[in-house]
Amino acid sequence: MATIKCDRCAQDKDQLDEAPMGGPLGDKIEATICVDCWGEWRAMSGNLINHHTLNLGLPEHRAQLRNAMKEFLKLEA
Ligand SMILES: [Zn+2]
Repeated sequence: MATIKCDRCAQDKDQLDEAPMGGPLGDKIEATICVDCWGEWRAMSGNLINHHTLNLGLPEHRAQLRNAMKEFLKLEA
């Protein structure tokens, strides 16, 4: 497992084994976000989905979750 300097927590941490989603955003997360920060987001996203009763079958709900993820991981808007 490779080590990266994570953009979010600014520490040298383990890199994700693979991009967590398709497209450039997934590649960026794999390249700049550590396993621990991704795990925090996964826990947070579960809470958000429950709290807002998001339906990931709906594009606007997916977009809402995507925006929350960018904010949480400090990715560009
Ligand atoms: Zn991190």
